[in-house]
Amino acid sequence: MDSHDVRSRFLDFYRERGHRRVQGTSLIPPDGDPVLFTTSGMHPLTPHLLGEPHPQGRRLVNLQRCLRTTDLDEVGDDTHLTVFEMLGTWSLGDYPGPMSLRWGYELLREGFGLDHDRLHVTVFGGDEQVGPDLESLRTWRELGVPVELTVEDNWWSNGPTGPCGPDSEVFVWTGEGRPTGTPTTDPGWVEVWNHVMMRHRRLDDGRLVPLQQPNVDTGMGLERLLTVLQGVGSVHETDLLRPWTDTVGRLWPMGSRDSRVVTDHLRSGTVVIGDGVRPSSSGRGYVLRRLVRRSLTLLWRHEPGSSLSDLPVDLLEDTLRQHGRTGPGHVREVMLGEERRFGELVRRGRPLVERRLRRGPLSETDLTDLHQTHGLPRDLVLGLLGGDR
Ligand code: ATP
Ligand code: MG
Ligand code: MG
Ligand code: MG
Repeated sequence: MDSHDVRSRFLDFYRERGHRRVQGTSLIPPDGDPVLFTTSGMHPLTPHLLGEPHPQGRRLVNLQRCLRTTDLDEVGDDTHLTVFEMLGTWSLGDYPGPMSLRWGYELLREGFGLDHDRLHVTVFGGDEQVGPDLESLRTWRELGVPVELTVEDNWWSNGPTGPCGPDSEVFVWTGEGRPTGTPTTDPGWVEVWNHVMMRHRRLDDGRLVPLQQPNVDTGMGLERLLTVLQGVGSVHETDLLRPWTDTVGRLWPMGSRDSRVVTDHLRSGTVVIGDGVRPSSSGRGYVLRRLVRRSLTLLWRHEPGSSLSDLPVDLLEDTLRQHGRTGPGHVREVMLGEERRFGELVRRGRPLVERRLRRGPLSETDLTDLHQTHGLPRDLVLGLLGGDR
């Protein structure tokens, strides 16, 4: 089953159960939203989770591209990408949590053919303010799926105040042999889906009050689901990422973790540029700048003189098309512009670092000074200019 089949099977399953599709938005949240990027499918729906009626009704489904700057350090592992797609469903004060869990189970088992024995879930176990999520616990027991109770990992919120609630996460076994341990004890369990019972609201003084309407908000990572359905070892080998993984591997052979980081960052950068962001020294533009410069740092460490001009236009075009965008030539220009600027910084920085190194290893003061006076960030000095000698 490839990514197209998975998307349509997901959408059809929920449409058959009364959900209307809402169009996904770009990675850029509307003006006035304090976050830099859309981080989950629920993000654009916040007003409706707080009670404002949605023009398409109370049962919704969508596909939403997301970007999490908080995951940048995880990228390179088997499961985290900077830009990924979330398959989302919502009950806006309509059906309750157990219905969502039962449908989720049915889709994974019958729709996607996953073995019952490869499933494990977690459920909120209760704290001083809120009791255990007994409804979810009972539902999973009835379905015969093993449950682990946790506290912090199963409480969802989007900040210190606002809507929140217990959640239940679904894990699929990807380890060797028969499943062992539990999601929190064995990394062979990979989280694919989160069902949030969004029924509370936290006030400024920390108190919890019931939300005007109890919602269910679920999000499943498309690339994670593809990893388990396609029986591959990581998101990088799914049909969605494969063209990038193969191209980067062919153009610039390097260690597998570095390859994954470059693959992720250039692909994510392409989508971010497609959504209208340009490299700059702050905000969204700075995130984009970091994606491109980190890729170049890794590339130039392995092979000085490598250039992003080798990226095939077809690859950029396909990636943009998947996200409803066009303009691969433009993406290329933006990337090459950033490559030029970064190249100048590296050329200017190298002799400065060399000069200091003649006096011995760099001190913290040297690093601060190189950054503040000469605009050479620590990562560049240590990662590319030999400052770690
Ligand atoms: P993890 O614990 O693995 O970091 P999460 O609990 O932060 O995931 P959620 O906020 O619950 O993730 O998001 C819902 C789903 O989105 C996850 O179950 C997962 O399938 C997917 N997902 C989350 N972060 C990423 C990522 N960086 N790359 C790919 N998929 C992701
Ligand atoms: Mg996470
Ligand atoms: Mg998690
Ligand atoms: Mg989660």
